[in-house]
Amino acid sequence: MRAFWYPFTHAAAKEIRLIDAPLEDVLSSRAFQPVRRRAVERVRGALHGEIPDADASDGVKQNVELLSYPLARLIVSCIDDDYLLRRYVLAEAKLAHRRLRSSDTEEVLEIARDLGMSPIYEGDNFRIHFTDFVISAARFRSQKWKLINRTIDHGYLKVTREELLRLMQERIRDRIQEGLPLDAGSICEGLSDHLRSIRDELASSKRSSMVDLGEFSRDALPPCMRSLLEQLAAGRNLAHTARFALTSFLLNINLGVEDIIGIFNNTPDFDEEMTRYQIEHIAGSTGTRYTPPSCSTMLTYGNCPGGDELCRRIKHPISYYRRRLRESRS
Ligand code: SF4
Repeated sequence: MRAFWYPFTHAAAKEIRLIDAPLEDVLSSRAFQPVRRRAVERVRGALHGEIPDADASDGVKQNVELLSYPLARLIVSCIDDDYLLRRYVLAEAKLAHRRLRSSDTEEVLEIARDLGMSPIYEGDNFRIHFTDFVISAARFRSQKWKLINRTIDHGYLKVTREELLRLMQERIRDRIQEGLPLDAGSICEGLSDHLRSIRDELASSKRSSMVDLGEFSRDALPPCMRSLLEQLAAGRNLAHTARFALTSFLLNINLGVEDIIGIFNNTPDFDEEMTRYQIEHIAGSTGTRYTPPSCSTMLTYGNCPGGDELCRRIKHPISYYRRRLRESRS
């Protein structure tokens, strides 16, 4: 296994322990500058949606790749921001997924075992135990990930290579998430220059990841929709009722299907085809255009975070939006 490509594995942790790299040196010595640079690149990449791949053509560069991972974890822990932590974990898991796609079967199986899974290679596909499937697919919403839609034979079910890698990505996400934020204490002082610049980028990334509603005013959004958009921006999956409420609301204030797909693009289980189908369905592709739920329905499904003083005078999130818009124009 190329542990430097998969620095979250137990195998990589062993290799990291063997490298002669005292923490004080990693934080300040010139020799470890490439490690600091790559760690910052990991965090910045996560903020902007993707950690770029790295040149690991020789042993020195492989050590940079290995050591930059724990350092990046320290950086996000020092900043300790929920939005950044989620984006970081997701981006590391996606980087691993990209790498797994170009790994051979033997390496895929090794990583799977390191993650506690026991897939069996069978021709072009794999067999996995149903418990491995259920643990990893728990966050997925599309029908193909429901156990009821799979054939189980003696506790095992068949998955394609792509499905196995997607299931592994979820395990990797959980592995990376473990222990974060770390208790970095005084280590953060040694990283202060990097932290300052990442904090600035974080503030601007938060602003820009909020949806551009074009001529529509973000300030006019009701607290419920604002909260759902913030959860999406932080890379969280929404419950089915919340997805429906947000999609139907945005369609109702005339956002296009493409704009709404762009909003969901950040979710961990984003599937463009499925998302497009669902949005078009709500928009009326089958003849029924759905209206957004009322405040009382939002409350029933736990999607109303509690409103402000205007919420007490309206019964529908759309009424809230229209009133706020009128107020801002008068
Ligand atoms: S009261 Fe209505 S508009 Fe206000 S936050 Fe709750 S669901 Fe949204």
